[in-house]
Amino acid sequence: MTACDNIDENDENSENDKNDKNNENENENKKKNKNKYKNNSQTGKMRTSVGCTSDYEKCVLDVRNVSKRYGHFFALKSVSFSVRAGESVAVLGPNGAGKTTLLKIIATLIKPSEGVVKLFGRDSSNADIRRRIGVVMHESFLYDELTVLENLKLYAKFFYINSEQLRRQQAEEEIEALVDILNLKRWLNVKAKLLSYGLRKRADIARALIHRPDLVILDEPFGGLDASSREILVEYFSRCSKTLILSSHSVEWARKVCERGIILERGAVKREMYLKRHSA
Ligand code: ATP
Repeated sequence: MTACDNIDENDENSENDKNDKNNENENENKKKNKNKYKNNSQTGKMRTSVGCTSDYEKCVLDVRNVSKRYGHFFALKSVSFSVRAGESVAVLGPNGAGKTTLLKIIATLIKPSEGVVKLFGRDSSNADIRRRIGVVMHESFLYDELTVLENLKLYAKFFYINSEQLRRQQAEEEIEALVDILNLKRWLNVKAKLLSYGLRKRADIARALIHRPDLVILDEPFGGLDASSREILVEYFSRCSKTLILSSHSVEWARKVCERGIILERGAVKREMYLKRHSA
């Protein structure tokens, strides 16, 4: 059983969990969105970033007129788009386009100079909201002196204690599944500081997924990974029904995982594009 399978199964079984209603609604929306995309790809129409207009198009992420200024320099200029439940979206663009800045704002790591970011319909600074996102940035969030397994256990415990999102046994199962998927078994007892860049990235991705986030945010997930590690990621994220936003220089790799691309140029959205058609 994969981590994806676990997630779906637990969404169905944990009737007493206060998040269940949200999860059920989001799953329902994912199905509806998939059908909707199917219709759009058949007609060839591009859905634009006009925002999520109804419950039917349930917004996981809504970015409205977001700008980021460093002195007189605008790293982001009035960026707007939204991501619905179950969508996978790539932020694309050349070096310096503003991809990392945008993802950091979405991940609540830095604040916008102007504009608003809403996650799950609420202000993104809300602490409960933060627990629903999984973030991998350029800098690893792993503790150097802890082994891979100790890191995963620590993060699982953190979410277990704080939100009861994970019960202890579920946490262990989730660690096992992610270690298996991301092929980390050989390095479980190695300290994070001793891992190569690619292995550390894979461990960091496992760390970001440990609490079963509803939205996954990945900054350049394919950067620095070898071909087999990239394939591992593609395999996982293209099969997983999670809502995903990632940044990449590579349209080629982004389209293996994402269905929609947002092209940034000099901090502004230049255009949006379909990256792949739904086969469902
Ligand atoms: P890359 O593909 O090279 O990672 P990017 O698209 O992720 O680039 P950002 O890292 O978001 O681009 O940077 C966008 C612009 O903002 C760049 O010109 C960068 O120099 C500038 N910038 C980012 N962070 C800061 C900061 N803390 N202070 C000043 N300028 C910054």
